[in-house]
Amino acid sequence: MDTSRREFLKLGGACALGLALLPAVKGFAAGTGSPQHLASPKALQGKRWGLVIDMKKCWPRYQEGCRRCFDTCRREHNIPVIDNSKEEIKWIWPEPFANAFPDQEHEFIPADVKDNPFIVLCNHCDNPPCVRVCPTKATFKRPDGIVMIDYHRCIGCRYCMAACPYGARSFNFRDPRPYIKETNPAYPTREKGVVEKCTLCVERIDTGLPPACVEACPAGALAFGDLEDPASPVRQLLKTRYTLQRKPELGTHPSVYYIV
Ligand code: SF4
Ligand code: SF4
Repeated sequence: MDTSRREFLKLGGACALGLALLPAVKGFAAGTGSPQHLASPKALQGKRWGLVIDMKKCWPRYQEGCRRCFDTCRREHNIPVIDNSKEEIKWIWPEPFANAFPDQEHEFIPADVKDNPFIVLCNHCDNPPCVRVCPTKATFKRPDGIVMIDYHRCIGCRYCMAACPYGARSFNFRDPRPYIKETNPAYPTREKGVVEKCTLCVERIDTGLPPACVEACPAGALAFGDLEDPASPVRQLLKTRYTLQRKPELGTHPSVYYIV
């Protein structure tokens, strides 16, 4: 195990223990992976982070070939490119409406909604079934709502994958490192046998930055903010625009909303 990963895992373990032993630790910082994980005075403060994704803003760019959110996330987080649908690792990816919102499909859905892809990722559910089933507590929810994975505790049982109704988790069936196009030394790599997924860019939030996909989108289609703060950008959008959540009937309470 390389040093950066070890430090990252140590931090994850501390988080899982409720940060009680390390009150100054807020997350992991970009950098060498060494213990720079002290609370940054710049850390964004939120009670429940969420995203509102405006697909109407995304689609024109997507049709022109824009893939900035996917590419930026992949680059920042050392996500391997494995051309095998059974083994691929996905943090943020496109899905057709029928897959993203299977329960909300009907014959009169407008063509643009039906025929264009939706950007999907972990919903950072407020009531996450993945957390409940994890036998080692490797998956846990932070006080700010971000659902995390402690790779050190993950035993690869994949119960969380079975529990997630959104297919938001991927399993490393093989060592992912040879499949990383260009390794970002500021972010830990993972190993064979662990589950991974979107972290809502916790490493950026804890140093005062919005998620990378939000920042990368040239159309400004992704809004990020505190769902508990009525003045936040996400609450402003939710107040003024009609939005959808994925599979709301399951009671998972997704923190990702869609404008269509
Ligand atoms: S989308 Fe899936 S992985 Fe993410 S919090 Fe919800 S149940 Fe867990
Ligand atoms: S929030 Fe961060 S980790 Fe999640 S999909 Fe966007 S870029 Fe990737």
